[in-house]
Amino acid sequence: MAYYWSPYVSVAQRRAKALRKMEKLRKQGKNIQPVEIEGRTIASSFWGKAWCEHLESFSDFENRLPRGRTYARNGSVCHLTVETGQIKAIVSGSKFYNVTIKIKPLKASIWKAIKSRCSGQIGSMLELLQGRLSDYVMSIVTDRTEGLLPLPGQIELRCDCPDWAEMCKHVAAVLYGVGNRLDSRPELLFTLRNVDANELIAGDISLPDFVAGAGKTIADDRITDIFGVDIDVDVEDAKEPLSKSPEKEERATRRVGTVRKQKKPSSARKHRVTTAKKKTKTSKIASRKKSSVRRAAIRSDAETS
Ligand SMILES: [Zn+2]
Repeated sequence: MAYYWSPYVSVAQRRAKALRKMEKLRKQGKNIQPVEIEGRTIASSFWGKAWCEHLESFSDFENRLPRGRTYARNGSVCHLTVETGQIKAIVSGSKFYNVTIKIKPLKASIWKAIKSRCSGQIGSMLELLQGRLSDYVMSIVTDRTEGLLPLPGQIELRCDCPDWAEMCKHVAAVLYGVGNRLDSRPELLFTLRNVDANELIAGDISLPDFVAGAGKTIADDRITDIFGVDIDVDVEDAKEPLSKSPEKEERATRRVGTVRKQKKPSSARKHRVTTAKKKTKTSKIASRKKSSVRRAAIRSDAETS
């Protein structure tokens, strides 16, 4: 193994240098997306934690990953993007290094199995992305070998620093950076594995595409923007008024219903009204049918007894 001497540069100096470099790249039109971690926790969401814990569970990684934690925490990952099949990042060390991590798409057979096992178990995109899943579903999507997370053999690591062959700290920092990114953008895991998360959602929850992005809700606007799926909030049915407290917002958002709480362009509103009318009509017909069936049953009971 080769050793390279580099002059000591304090974290603050490195940080300042990194900020200057990123500013320069921004001016050149690059959409710089730094990994900014507050405190010591790298990932705190369901998907972010699942990503980190999954990678740490493999002996190929467990010894080498920890060296990236400090780098990830101190803001050395100046830029990180997650695309289909690959993660790209710029990490500041004694120099700036370019990291590329290629990840194979999820095998079609595994995706098919996940979909069939989760069928009807996940009510909404919000539940899926926030990881509000039953233990059963959780165990399926995070299964070590048959879940959504990649296996070491499906991950190809590359860094242009001198010691990248041994999973350098830059690569390790980027892998943790992905965990942090999944906290705010969990949908990127599905993008990375080249699968459509919509296919995991119970069919009757999704709305037509044209409604997507038409209105904003409190907690799900990010999801709406990205997935083109609306998670509806049944606020009118809620007994309590929508409060600004995060806990209550959360509860309100959890009520997946059919009525949106904010104004939408008229076409979408019209659609909603017609849908609602149709639903009332359908349910009336259904209940009429039910009672006529019941009457027939009573009649036939009376005839036979
Ligand atoms: Zn490196």
